[in-house]
Amino acid sequence: MGDCIFCKIVKKEAPATVEFENDNLIAFRNINPIAPVHVLIVPKKHIAKLSEISEEDQSLMGEVLLIAKNIAKKLGISEAFRVALANGENAGQSVFHLHFHLTGGWKEKYTREEDRG
Ligand code: AMP
Ligand code: ZN
Repeated sequence: MGDCIFCKIVKKEAPATVEFENDNLIAFRNINPIAPVHVLIVPKKHIAKLSEISEEDQSLMGEVLLIAKNIAKKLGISEAFRVALANGENAGQSVFHLHFHLTGGWKEKYTREEDRG
């Protein structure tokens, strides 16, 4: 996917602050964070959005949540974090390579609707 920014990050053709990587997934800091900790968890396989996954992606989707838990622990936000995903432009998706937002690090109880990530 030639002009996809997340594919470029996967191929190390674009910079990112990587927090985790394995054969299936890469996780890196959001360049425009909306929380004290904001990491994007990205399947290396180019899938444009959640509505395009198929049965063969089932274990990959489960792995995302397991890795989210592990990254939350590594970054010290295990007690309180959120995992969010936007599917489609009208839901706020702006990068059309499937990604999950892991946010956390708030000092007080999360109530701010605008930070839903
Ligand atoms: P979404 O709006 O749900 O599609 O999320 C896309 C996110 O990707 C936004 O929060 C952007 O700040 C973030 N983003 C875009 N380009 C980059 C990049 N090169 N490195 C890190 N994060 C990025
Ligand atoms: Zn891509």
